[in-house]
Amino acid sequence: MVILPRLHAHEAGKPILRLQNVTVQYESGRALDDITFELRRGERLAVLGPNGAGKSTLFKVIAGVLRPTNGVVEVAGSEPDGHICIAYVPQRSQVDWNFPLRVSDVVMMGRVGKIGLLRRPTAADRQIVKRALETVGMQELANRQIGQLSGGQQQRMFIARALAQEAELMLMDEPFTGLDLPAQEELFRILDALRGQGVTVMVALHDLQTAAERFDRVMLLNRRLIGLGTAEQIFTPEHLLTAYGGHLRLIPSREGLIALGDTCCDEGEHDHL
Ligand code: ADP
Ligand code: MG
Repeated sequence: MVILPRLHAHEAGKPILRLQNVTVQYESGRALDDITFELRRGERLAVLGPNGAGKSTLFKVIAGVLRPTNGVVEVAGSEPDGHICIAYVPQRSQVDWNFPLRVSDVVMMGRVGKIGLLRRPTAADRQIVKRALETVGMQELANRQIGQLSGGQQQRMFIARALAQEAELMLMDEPFTGLDLPAQEELFRILDALRGQGVTVMVALHDLQTAAERFDRVMLLNRRLIGLGTAEQIFTPEHLLTAYGGHLRLIPSREGLIALGDTCCDEGEHDHL
């Protein structure tokens, strides 16, 4: 494979992601308030919080598509603006699926940071795109229009784009929302493969149990950072009530406390365990 220079040199020894006192103020109000945390290279973090908690806003400031009102975001020691080692998989509702693009076009966009906007893709780029599509099991769908994909296929296409980008930090905003169980398992299979390559992954989701079982650490967010740590440390009744307030019902069971969140996804209102 061709080694191309990075847009920003990585500073050795820096955490893959560091936020310090990050605040985002929209005209409508404050979406994030004084957020400070660090991520370790290769870890898998779940981000939870009620609707409107600022999860998507957090992902946008890390991806560099939105500037924080205050505070610092550093990815491997540099500002995220134009940083090619970040892959951002937006919430599905924020994508225009009618745009006339084929799957392979979207995945090739992952190469733009490497090849530049003005150079044509080479055979090597096309090979990388092909391999990325194989990794997510979508080689047969390379020429399909993006509007004709299922929810799971849409997520896998974005993951293929992230793979083609050779991303080191992957931000996925509610990738599980609207996916059936087999599609969710398929996503975890891909996430496990990414872990093997040392890719750091941040996922916004609503399911406390999935977060507890399948992620290294969890974050509870509601405008402020309520907690970041292992599920055992963070999913305490106090923290959960601070995050979800009256929208959360805590039900005692033999396994411990089960949190039933009224989480209002895009697909309508669901109760998630
Ligand atoms: P979540 O992803 O956790 O549901 P968001 O980050 O989408 O939360 O939104 C956090 C808050 O900021 C909400 O109150 C939302 O209405 C507001 N908000 C989000 N995007 C914008 C925007 N572009 N302009 C103004 N307000 C926004
Ligand atoms: Mg959101």
